[in-house]
Amino acid sequence: MTRSPTDPALALAAALCLAGGGLAGSERDGTLRIFADHPGGNGRVLGQDGRTVRLAQEAKGSGHWFYWNIRIERPAAGTYRFEFTDGEVIGPHGPAISRDGASWRWAGAATMDRAKTHAEWIAPDAETGAQSFTWTFTGDEESVWFAHHLPYQLQRLEAVLAGLPAGAVERRQLGTSEGGRPIPLLVVGGGAAPDRRILVTCRHHACESHASYVLEGILRRLAAEPIPGCAVHLVPMIDIDGVERGDQGKARLPRDHNRDYDRAPLYHATRAMIAHVSANRFDQAYDLHCPGMAGHLRYHTHFYNVLPQFTAEYERFRDLLRAAPGTGASPAGQLYDGRNDRIATAATPDTFSTFMAGQGPRLVLTLEQNYFTLDRPPLEQDELVAFGDAFARAMTSYNRR
Ligand SMILES: [Zn+2]
Repeated sequence: MTRSPTDPALALAAALCLAGGGLAGSERDGTLRIFADHPGGNGRVLGQDGRTVRLAQEAKGSGHWFYWNIRIERPAAGTYRFEFTDGEVIGPHGPAISRDGASWRWAGAATMDRAKTHAEWIAPDAETGAQSFTWTFTGDEESVWFAHHLPYQLQRLEAVLAGLPAGAVERRQLGTSEGGRPIPLLVVGGGAAPDRRILVTCRHHACESHASYVLEGILRRLAAEPIPGCAVHLVPMIDIDGVERGDQGKARLPRDHNRDYDRAPLYHATRAMIAHVSANRFDQAYDLHCPGMAGHLRYHTHFYNVLPQFTAEYERFRDLLRAAPGTGASPAGQLYDGRNDRIATAATPDTFSTFMAGQGPRLVLTLEQNYFTLDRPPLEQDELVAFGDAFARAMTSYNRR
């Protein structure tokens, strides 16, 4: 929900607080107090009828997309149905759920009121229709979060950085966002005069948080074991405002951050990225994303639109990633077998990867880290981090020659 006082959902919550002292009102009539004002929050209450709540995700400056992330405070005991009215916004494992906004798991397919068939899950028109899930509150929960997938906010990144060995990561600032937030730039390894520079970027599209777990795994591994002679520059949250505001980010209008690498970029972060790339000759770039919502490809970790000039180097990296310790061991890693990678037939204009390709690097790759799996257990937070660890090991092997 927006923070506008005219927002009907906020007005509803405010009215409840006024009328019944908030919790008392909630306990008396079963009306849920639903919020989206936390970092990464996104969602709009359309109404509640008995134990059925109708909701929708918010576009927040984008065209139609599927991300949402809501918080329910002190729900009264009982079983509630959450009906989302605007397209497929619940995946095969049900919603992600959290009791603290930090540790997330999947509520499970059994919470969904109607399970789709395999054919429906891979249908190309997934973004139409409505979906619902049902959840039973015990009445002793302070807060319960639900989201489309496993969120990843700045707070987690800060906690990870605070836990790394002192001096392992150099913290810089790429620039300042439109919202006044510092855009973090992390540099790992390489010393004062690195032989080689490598760039890792994430959250060009704000909602694509599963990619952030992979970045965390890369960061943790490289902080412990830097790649000899290499300085790895990581920009973990390009659209940091969008990440913290709970924007979709993808399909942002008039164009999103990954369509902004032209001669007149709209966004502070993109301008800063172009300047940073111009000032540092990067040998490789790895841009971490998550897929869209149509077709079977979205259930697999894959490299998307590898530009043809990088085919030979991509194949070398692919084989190292498949062989990296941990790739086979982590469920996320098991999903990467290289078979779903795509070689581009043409470069997409004004993307980060197309821009980078023009800067003379040896390799540019775009990873799509899936939100969901089909016919196998879902991806958990730790497993995504483990795949990042494997990814970093592949980077180390790749740069050994
Ligand atoms: Zn993306």
